[in-house]
Amino acid sequence: MTSQGITVLGSTGSIGESTLNVLARHPDRFHVIALSAHSNVERLAEQCSQHRARYAVISNADKAIALQSALNRLQCKAEVLAGPDALSDVVRMDETEVVMAAIVGAAGLKPTLHSVQAAKRLLLANKESMVIAGELFRKAAAEHNATIIPVDSEHNALFQVLPENFDTGLENVGVERLILTASGGPFLHRERESLRDITPDQACAHPNWDMGRKISVDSATLMNKGLEVIEARWLFNARPDQIEVVIHPQSIVHSMVAYRDGSVLAQLGNPDMRTPIAHALAWPERIEAGVKRLNLQEMHKLEFYPPDLKSFPGLALAFQVLEAGGNATVIFNAANEIAVEAFLQERIGFLQIPSIVAAALDVCETGNINNLDDVLEFDRLARDAASKIIQSQTR
Ligand code: NAD
Ligand code: MG
Repeated sequence: MTSQGITVLGSTGSIGESTLNVLARHPDRFHVIALSAHSNVERLAEQCSQHRARYAVISNADKAIALQSALNRLQCKAEVLAGPDALSDVVRMDETEVVMAAIVGAAGLKPTLHSVQAAKRLLLANKESMVIAGELFRKAAAEHNATIIPVDSEHNALFQVLPENFDTGLENVGVERLILTASGGPFLHRERESLRDITPDQACAHPNWDMGRKISVDSATLMNKGLEVIEARWLFNARPDQIEVVIHPQSIVHSMVAYRDGSVLAQLGNPDMRTPIAHALAWPERIEAGVKRLNLQEMHKLEFYPPDLKSFPGLALAFQVLEAGGNATVIFNAANEIAVEAFLQERIGFLQIPSIVAAALDVCETGNINNLDDVLEFDRLARDAASKIIQSQTR
């Protein structure tokens, strides 16, 4: 077996750590080319030392000297590269064959898209990239014959139960619906009014998954499922009316595909991101992931409910922006990122998150997206608009 060179963007995050955990189980299959972090130099240096990375990339250039010192202390020879452009440089290197895109937010867009343009095998966790630039990803993948394997557990599940030629159109392969499951987050079955005084720590305490703070808040507002609906539209060439969301509090069924003949195929497993990560790493083969085996005899029930769009309006909003097209999904994502950050800093309340996103969609002008610059410009405008809305609401 030849060993593949892998670059992990966002290696110090929750998905990044889980990826390195799986990689460490397969030293014969993979070797690490580059690891990246935004500011956590100590952890990045430890990872580079442990995984013998050739490059240590720090996107926040102000931390480059601190990173070099941390590497020196560990006698690690990884070369330091700094600044956001260094992320694109490492994915384009010949030695990088596989890229795990695990940066959070639109900050991951450029290197993630550049991976596809450089025809690398892309393992996609950074859903925000696909949400704001889905059409550009589809075009680039077709043009450069690049493979994109979803890591998000729902999309990885769909990828596992769809036929291989799904990209020719879901109807052509007998698929009627993609059914995304959602845990419902920590506030499932709660009345809207009871959510007014939720704190960041309460919102981040997810019942089934241990994740970064941004996606944890998104899961609590159901914005995460909204982002995933949009992600599914682009990954699977699906129309909005072919995508359904069902609440499944146990997070055992990770998603389902409903076929024309009445069959519904599901992928099940314990909620541990190492399963989809290992699947994406080895596809079409299967490798050990270190995950606790699913024991259905211990499982007393698997429940399914319709989502409560009154308490969690972000999900309905996602379907609306998908129908609207153009730059609407960019505004939706950018305003959400700004609102989540403000919530985590306790500048706004939990219920304001979806209302700020809706207000940003109202004030931002609509427009079309033709290239990466358009996405970046609409993203910037929407961030400004959302920040102004927050200022006006907190004064
Ligand atoms: P995290 O916050 O734990 O980690 C984020 C990583 O991105 C860190 O390594 C950080 O250094 C880096 N980063 C942050 N800001 C950056 C910037 N401006 N420039 C460059 N790098 C930056 O996040 P996470 O939970 O691992 O999620 C990562 C991505 O995967 C998100 O898009 C999330 O939606 C998606 N995802 C996560 C999970 C999960 O279980 N955590 C599941 C499905 C999808
Ligand atoms: Mg998910």
